[in-house]
Amino acid sequence: MVAMDDVQKWFGELHVLKDINLHVKPGEVVVVIGPSGSGKSTLCRAINRLEPIDQGTIAIDGALLPEEGRKLAQLRADVGMVFQSFNLFAHKTVLENVMLGPIKVRKKSKADAEKRAMELLKRVGVDSQANKYPAQLSGGQQQRVAIARALAMDPKVMLFDEPTSALDPEMIKEVLDTMVALAKAGMTMVVVTHEMGFARTAADRVVFMSDGQILEENTPQEFFDHPETDRAKDFLAKIL
Ligand code: ADP
Ligand code: MG
Repeated sequence: MVAMDDVQKWFGELHVLKDINLHVKPGEVVVVIGPSGSGKSTLCRAINRLEPIDQGTIAIDGALLPEEGRKLAQLRADVGMVFQSFNLFAHKTVLENVMLGPIKVRKKSKADAEKRAMELLKRVGVDSQANKYPAQLSGGQQQRVAIARALAMDPKVMLFDEPTSALDPEMIKEVLDTMVALAKAGMTMVVVTHEMGFARTAADRVVFMSDGQILEENTPQEFFDHPETDRAKDFLAKIL
């Protein structure tokens, strides 16, 4: 579903993605972990070309990501993204936030978009908030709306970049539970997170990044119980 081959990226002198090869199968859940500054966000952003790459190729469901243009917009619509900051439109209601993309990009009718949006809001447990504005919701509710909004585009893969890092502790679980349910329903997911409980329960594979490189790739069980590199051992010692 996602194929990154020999991907290199520099920010000026800084080599942020060093020969990244990452393949994600349909339905697979890959959790990306690693120290701050190791390139996790850049990797996520590269997957839907929010960040251009300098070398290598990235394909979504077999289609190579072009540099720009209408085809890029189309392919980007296949990749849902949820960020640390919820990025909802403040002047639109929850329901309008979820309806907007399907109407504008997928050319759905208003009635179809609304029906689907309500289904998705229900699925993430915030349907009772549909007519409120984002600021009237808790952080956890806003993040679940952001997930519903991404799902409304019928993405082939969902990217999550530290989706719970900005949340108060009591709201982290409701967002993680939503993500676990999505994983169980068969969604292909790439998740950057420091939530090791989520990685253990939901990940098919853990990817450990350090200094722009993928240093380890393993099942969560193997990775957490038997990290191979000193850098992974150090990292785990600090966060566990
Ligand atoms: P992570 O998400 O793992 O914390 P990032 O992908 O955000 O790491 O950043 C990787 C490295 O690239 C860091 O050293 C960061 O400072 C640098 N970086 C990120 N974005 C930019 C940018 N737009 N311009 C220059 N350097 C950047
Ligand atoms: Mg980051």
